[in-house]
Amino acid sequence: MTAKVIDGKAFAARVRADVAAHVAAMKQDHGITPGLAVVLVGQDPASQVYVKNKHASTIEVGMNSFEHRLPAETSEADLLALVQKLNNDPAVHGILVQLPLPAHLNSDLIINAINPAKDVDGFHISNVGLLGTGQKAMVPCTPLGCLMMLRDHYGSLAGLNAVVVGRSNIVGKPMAQLLLNDSCTVTIAHSRTKNLEEVCQRADILVAAVGRPEMITAAHVRAGATVIDVGINRIERGGKNILVGDVDYASAASVAGAITPVPGGVGPMTIACLLANTLTATARAHGLAEPKGLTA
Ligand code: NDP
Repeated sequence: MTAKVIDGKAFAARVRADVAAHVAAMKQDHGITPGLAVVLVGQDPASQVYVKNKHASTIEVGMNSFEHRLPAETSEADLLALVQKLNNDPAVHGILVQLPLPAHLNSDLIINAINPAKDVDGFHISNVGLLGTGQKAMVPCTPLGCLMMLRDHYGSLAGLNAVVVGRSNIVGKPMAQLLLNDSCTVTIAHSRTKNLEEVCQRADILVAAVGRPEMITAAHVRAGATVIDVGINRIERGGKNILVGDVDYASAASVAGAITPVPGGVGPMTIACLLANTLTATARAHGLAEPKGLTA
């Protein structure tokens, strides 16, 4: 079997175009421009690239982008004061504090200081609770992107067996919760799971969010299953530094029915969903109708 490639890059371009159209209409009809504030503390090279990309994408869809770059030694009090200022700024509809924060800063404390209505990363404890109880929440961008691609592929997900490998707060757990909310039968696997291959073989939908290069192979994949590879890993191969997922693509694609590549799968959807969340937050803040197809 040759798996269908789920093209996240093309899907993300469609989502961004949809967001841009909504932003233009919001400006024209209501005089409102969505604004996203991104806070970066320190010099982490990967975070700098992410923040740069977020800024460019935000501008591209017609939103305002407010970047706050702070030195690595910024105190907790100063960071909390900035978050408070952004909470109170009516031009800011979404706030994202780039993780990881330097070790001396308490990430939970900082994230939970963000106004939940502006928490476009969906990491605030209130949004986690709202998602867990099936209420209207801000949903973490990466799992939201995966959900959008799965809904597009299947239509309804009801009754499908889903296995999520990984139980982090930013990917695995919210992914499992979203699939459960869409009526999948969900299993969460992790580093202590026994007989992982056997567990994964039950999946119609297999989501890998492990952080281990190419760990998921054909042996984990049921014939015809859909494989969503969240992993982003840099490895050396053939003298080159390359990007690979948590899935051994060639191996898994030989049995899967559909699969997301790395790069060009889940990755581009994450920023697209950040923009979608900022649009949703803006609509909610102003009591406007929420854009369809861009939320969970
Ligand atoms: P974490 O390190 O926070 O979590 C990894 C999870 O994988 C843990 O729950 C861990 O289990 C589990 N795990 C580790 N080893 C094994 C194993 N051998 N068998 C089964 N489970 C295992 O990672 P994240 O969730 O933050 O990220 C996962 C991946 O997704 C990474 O590659 C990351 O780079 C990528 N990512 C991609 C994004 C995107 O935009 N595409 C966004 C965010 C992340 P345990 O809890 O027991 O330790």
